[in-house]
Amino acid sequence: MPPIETEEISLDEIYQLAFKVFSSHGCDTDNATALARTVTNAERDGSLSHGLFRIPGYLASLKSGKVNGDAQPKIEQNLDSVITVDGNLGYAPLSHEKGLPVLADAAKRSGIAVMRLINSFHFAALWPETEFLAERGLSGIACTVYKPAVAPAGASKAFFGTNPISFSWPRPNKTPLVFDMATSTLAMGDVQIAAREGHPVPHGTGLGPDGKPSDDPAEILKGVLLPFGGYKGSAISLMVELLAAGMTGESFSYEAEKTDNNDGGPPKGGELILAINPELVAGKGWTDHSEDFFSHLKAIDGVRLPGERRHKNRLDKGPRQVNKDLLSKVRSFL
Ligand code: NDP
Repeated sequence: MPPIETEEISLDEIYQLAFKVFSSHGCDTDNATALARTVTNAERDGSLSHGLFRIPGYLASLKSGKVNGDAQPKIEQNLDSVITVDGNLGYAPLSHEKGLPVLADAAKRSGIAVMRLINSFHFAALWPETEFLAERGLSGIACTVYKPAVAPAGASKAFFGTNPISFSWPRPNKTPLVFDMATSTLAMGDVQIAAREGHPVPHGTGLGPDGKPSDDPAEILKGVLLPFGGYKGSAISLMVELLAAGMTGESFSYEAEKTDNNDGGPPKGGELILAINPELVAGKGWTDHSEDFFSHLKAIDGVRLPGERRHKNRLDKGPRQVNKDLLSKVRSFL
């Protein structure tokens, strides 16, 4: 297999490129800024399946008219601890920028608060949401659904989305603990990248169109992904469906499929974000208690905390090596 050709590009150039592309495809300044920031932060942290790679999909849904590039999210605080953000059929990042500070304030006051994001399109990683909360002293949980792509345990037919879930824990004066993962064995974006780059994926990632296990990403894209960890991951994926759709009133993955126009972007859906304030729930002493836990955990040989790879990447302020074909494709949209 020939080596993948890359091009060196600074984070500022990535931001400017993304901003110009979104602005020239129907996004107003607020939406283009929020999306360009999301894409740049993903590239900065090495979340490559949710950075520049997603731009063609974002643009396809702007072009088809499915997503509103001028969306202005509306916030309602139904109860002090229940916040509804109506995304006005726009992409999720602007709704996050508007809604998360309101959610954080509510959790600071009440101990626990929940945000339901509806009428929105989520095409990004979820760590920005939970990390935002942890940086404000809160523990966060966020989850969203997609379209059927994952077979429930025991089946070979897609029913669950790749249904990511992210969790964060605040660590005063330290980088917060954040994990963010699809409940499928691999995120769809990673399978698509493997197909583009022509390398196999681990056995157990998914089934081909014939329902048999395959390590060929192109075959899996025609077939189905599997949940991580068999029936246990399947149960977590089921929980994500209920929290992100049942609890928000938005579409389950199987419902989203019926209304989506398959333009290459994400389906309309909901996201549930929960914020818990340890200062009010656990009370004084929670920091020392949890830091002691982290010390014991990290003392075990071979352990690294989730999020450490991303946060280490973030310390590098220098240019990034980006797939050359991908960059040409994104530039061709200008
Ligand atoms: P990974 O499997 O790459 O990583 C999952 C988590 O495990 C990360 O927090 C990662 O931290 C951590 N981790 C990885 N290796 C180790 C290790 N050896 N020890 C401890 N922790 C580790 O993520 P996925 O492929 O499952 O998901 C990728 C992204 O796709 C996520 O950001 C998710 O939100 C997004 N996604 C979005 C969807 C959407 O509809 N919007 C749908 C599905 C997925 P680290 O990052 O530091 O490596």
